[in-house]
Amino acid sequence: MKTDSSPDLGAAASALDEADPLRSMRDRFVGSESSIVYFDGNSLGRPPRASVERLARFATEEWGGRLIRGWDESWMQLPFTIGDEIGRTAIGAAAGQTVVGDSTTVLLYKLIRAAFDAQKALDPTRVEIVVDRDNFPTDRYLVDGIARERGGRVRWIDVDLSAGVTAESLSSVVGPETAVVVLSQVAYRSGHLADAPELTRIAQDAGALVMWDLCHSAGSVPVEADDWGFDLAVGCTYKYLNGGPGSPAFAYVAKRHQETLAQPIQGWMGTADVFAMGPEYRPAEGMRRFLSGTPPIVGMLAMQDTLAMIDEVGIDAIREKSVSLTEFAIAVTDATLAPLGVTVASPRDAVFRGGHITLSHPAMRAVTARLWAEDVIPDYRDPHGLRIGLSPLSTSFAETLAGLRSVADALRAELA
Ligand SMILES: *Cc1c(COP(=O)(O)O)cnc(C)c1O
Repeated sequence: MKTDSSPDLGAAASALDEADPLRSMRDRFVGSESSIVYFDGNSLGRPPRASVERLARFATEEWGGRLIRGWDESWMQLPFTIGDEIGRTAIGAAAGQTVVGDSTTVLLYKLIRAAFDAQKALDPTRVEIVVDRDNFPTDRYLVDGIARERGGRVRWIDVDLSAGVTAESLSSVVGPETAVVVLSQVAYRSGHLADAPELTRIAQDAGALVMWDLCHSAGSVPVEADDWGFDLAVGCTYKYLNGGPGSPAFAYVAKRHQETLAQPIQGWMGTADVFAMGPEYRPAEGMRRFLSGTPPIVGMLAMQDTLAMIDEVGIDAIREKSVSLTEFAIAVTDATLAPLGVTVASPRDAVFRGGHITLSHPAMRAVTARLWAEDVIPDYRDPHGLRIGLSPLSTSFAETLAGLRSVADALRAELA
């Protein structure tokens, strides 16, 4: 049985695409001409067309032509120049506080551990790391490991899986023993958008340092790291920043903490004079000290094209489109999927919602397998969650409607 192809929804999608000031951006991505519906740009963004050319040019001209001279000519500085670009266009950080380095996991480890050690050194009773039970697995596993390794304790926040950490839930766990608080701005499962300025204030009022995980927010929701008083932040570049599979993460360290934090992987690239190759490690001043080994230059190429797009249209326009995409997806869900028993496991109020929504039904694992086989690509997250990622620069309203209609068809087939 085919889904209802309600003309109202079709007309609404066309009207929204027509009125969308960012509609032309979609054509700048590889694959936008195909009929694939892509609901996973929040997990692995599509490649910008400009990046295809940039990668080819890099291989032939820079790598192939400049060879090892490339390090002196530009590559040594790339982690910092791109870091500053991320700071300026996507996370509200003045220059000199953002660097592109290792994976998200490794940067989180280095900075959470450094923050924990610094706090404990100031006050040996501050030994708790606060994290919520629904934070991304890597964040939870790291916190558990760091607490054990450094003589600390984990303090868990219980959260509603369809929502996220609130001011009340954070206030009830922080106190004189809190060393570090680790939070995601946008929850990977529900898409809940945390009140980052408020939660930062609550943690800092208790004397804690805060680490913000920006993986699901950088490039899709506004972040004002400096104005909101962030201490530390780490984020992915292969999600909304379209850096490609495994592209390296970025780290933000507020200027006031840079000289006091000592990160644990003291490699040669983080030293004050890299090519002095001296007898011992002396950490560089500024953000260089948070690097460890040779920076992954090839992985830093593609993200520059998305940063240029963000600069061109502005993060506020991206957020506006993102809100309207998720509003539309929820309206389509209510009209076509709710009658099949699907519920929305994400905040309904856009103020508390990031760039993706999760749709819940016990058959969603099987539905996901059917959809992938038909070139409709969401992802699945336990329990029963079909995650619909709507990347504002590369997703259209028509694509959103087509994909959700396919979800309804697949669910009907599964239930038949
Ligand atoms: C995607 C994601 C990660 C991934 O970390 P990697 O080291 O890149 O695998 C970490 N944290 C959050 C919140 C994420 O969404």
